[in-house]
Amino acid sequence: MTPIVRYRTYSGYLKERYGEKVYKLPVNLPITCPNRLSGGGCSFCADVGTGFEAQDSILPVSEQLRRNRAHIEARYKAHKFIAYFQNYTNTFMPADTLKKVLEEAAGVEDIVEISLSTRPDCISDAYLLLLKELQNKYSINIHLELGLQTANYHTLNKIHRGHGLAEFIDAVLRISRYDFTVCTHLILNLPGDTMEDVVETARLVSVLPVQIVKLHSLYIAANSEFGRQYACGELELCSAEEYLDRVAAFLQYVRPDMVIERLFGRIPEKDALFANWGRSWWKLNDELNALLEQRNIYQGDKCNYMNGSKLSLLDS
Ligand code: SF4
Repeated sequence: MTPIVRYRTYSGYLKERYGEKVYKLPVNLPITCPNRLSGGGCSFCADVGTGFEAQDSILPVSEQLRRNRAHIEARYKAHKFIAYFQNYTNTFMPADTLKKVLEEAAGVEDIVEISLSTRPDCISDAYLLLLKELQNKYSINIHLELGLQTANYHTLNKIHRGHGLAEFIDAVLRISRYDFTVCTHLILNLPGDTMEDVVETARLVSVLPVQIVKLHSLYIAANSEFGRQYACGELELCSAEEYLDRVAAFLQYVRPDMVIERLFGRIPEKDALFANWGRSWWKLNDELNALLEQRNIYQGDKCNYMNGSKLSLLDS
């Protein structure tokens, strides 16, 4: 029996868009992040950012793409790829340097999309214009990944994100004027956040022109501020069951057409003090599916709060 699809998957979205399987090829640039320069970075960020298994950043972009392609193509029989600039803040560099690296990626055979991971406070019209020119010149899709993590601006402050909610809203609205895809990264179990914050975060991304979300369970990287707090017993983490409840609620409140790229965090075992309650990705995924099934939950079940929802009371 075909399993019931209860949320919109990223692999399905890519297949609809490109007509076949498409895989991301990570590219690691010799850059940093303004938040690391000015204050040590976000509390969950390790000193390598998210580049745990990345290629050496001194390698040319085209060579990194070639090496990663060889591996992915052999394993998954894929023929179309996304150049994924994942680590640190990939717009935090002079415009002419950004143009040069992106042109190198866009010129590589079978790259159909460029995905740039960055911070909401590192998006400007000048850079978006540059990306638009690149998109037109190479007929390539551009996709921006923004870290928000939570809609709770008190939590953003506590985890030293170095930006608030306003910067995120500004970046999303600005990007939408150039018609690029926006993916937002969210952590559903940041210390101090509650179910209420998760629901409000789902509601916030749903009313903005965000097309994709990546949900993460908080992992504790050894070399991070949270790592230090965890080692001292100062960090309180929610249970796996609570996390799954939060994912289920998020799915209910988020727009039905939102693409769900990820549901759990991922970090190599050797770099983590804590990750996913010691359970594998597959186990957590099975547990989530069972919970969605048991409660008969579908994405967007509770997405009924837009467009003057209370006006319907006038009819009763
Ligand atoms: S914005 Fe990203 S790279 Fe910068 S400190 Fe935070 S998690 Fe690390």
